[in-house]
Amino acid sequence: MSVATVPSAVSSVMSSKSNELIRVGVLGFGGLGQAAARVLAPKQHMRLVAAADRDGVVYDADGLDADQCITAYRTGGSVGDVETFGERVESSIDRLIKTATAAEGYFLALPNLPNTFMASVVEQFIEAGWQGVLVDALKRTSAMEQMLALQDRLEGAGITYMTGCGATPGLLTAAAAIAAQSYAQIHSVKITFGVGIANWEAYRATIREDIAHMPGYGVETARAMTDEEVAALLDTTNGILALENMEHADDLMLELAGICDRHQVTVGGVVDTRNPQQPLSTNVQVTGRTFEGKISTHTFTLGDETSMAANVCGPAFGYLKAGRSLHQRGIYGVFTAAEVMPQFVR
Ligand code: NAD
Repeated sequence: MSVATVPSAVSSVMSSKSNELIRVGVLGFGGLGQAAARVLAPKQHMRLVAAADRDGVVYDADGLDADQCITAYRTGGSVGDVETFGERVESSIDRLIKTATAAEGYFLALPNLPNTFMASVVEQFIEAGWQGVLVDALKRTSAMEQMLALQDRLEGAGITYMTGCGATPGLLTAAAAIAAQSYAQIHSVKITFGVGIANWEAYRATIREDIAHMPGYGVETARAMTDEEVAALLDTTNGILALENMEHADDLMLELAGICDRHQVTVGGVVDTRNPQQPLSTNVQVTGRTFEGKISTHTFTLGDETSMAANVCGPAFGYLKAGRSLHQRGIYGVFTAAEVMPQFVR
């Protein structure tokens, strides 16, 4: 074998795999679900074929038009109103699992309210005998623990489940896992996020789940709040939510990856619900000691121009693609964003 033939043989195998078209669906068509549809629209190797919201489904194995879905949702409240391919139904997720046979993977852009909701959706996939790749952008440690408890059932069902694959947990947790490699010992991982959105109604679940982290609130209180109550609370803070010491699964993911103990990981941030500009630059700081005994900090900072939606949906589909490679190799069960590299979707 000549030296010259090896790289070309390898690259042709790799490109044929990474160039395959992957048909995917999105569950939940709120802020992140709609952004996910827009992220996918220009992609050559991943296509949106299915979507569900609380009141309906839309499915076309040849591909959905993102603008048409978004217009239907914003006008009538459901993707079920999309001409020809949409349908208003109850139990929309169940319907999509059973009918959208071309979808090889789903991004779960659903609210996790109550805190057990996402795990119950995953059980629906298992019980339906569905096989493929599922990706979530779960935030709470206790919610991810429920996913990890489903490991054996997911593995037995032939589902590759990628958990914590948004921005934080997700992109920043993965960056921390890479940054940790310079050190012999990790002292701390500090995640600080800044999110700016023009209005809270565009991301109702995200904001309710953030309120649930505020002192005096919890998941059930936040879930029970009416839209008017959320708006009234935001009036008292000038639209700002300042959060610290959040229960975020970055801690569990980095502990599972063997990088540090969960108590060494802290997550906090500021959300401005009245201004799309980021109130501060989202970053992760990883402090540790090198093998020479030096203490140092690596900082990975996201560009302020990148929106929350870009930093969640991009990684979610990158991990979906990575999960599909695992699935094709017969590797099933639960994986976190800190133990698998995302793949880039063109
Ligand atoms: P949203 O409130 O804007 O939209 C939720 C969507 O889910 C709506 O379309 C609604 O119709 C649908 N839905 C609700 N119940 C349903 C049901 N039973 N069946 C089918 N569809 C249903 O939500 P969002 O603000 O886009 O947030 C989605 C999730 O993403 C939240 O859980 C949030 O915490 C998470 N998130 C994660 C990160 C991260 O970095 N990891 C960042 C932001 C948001």
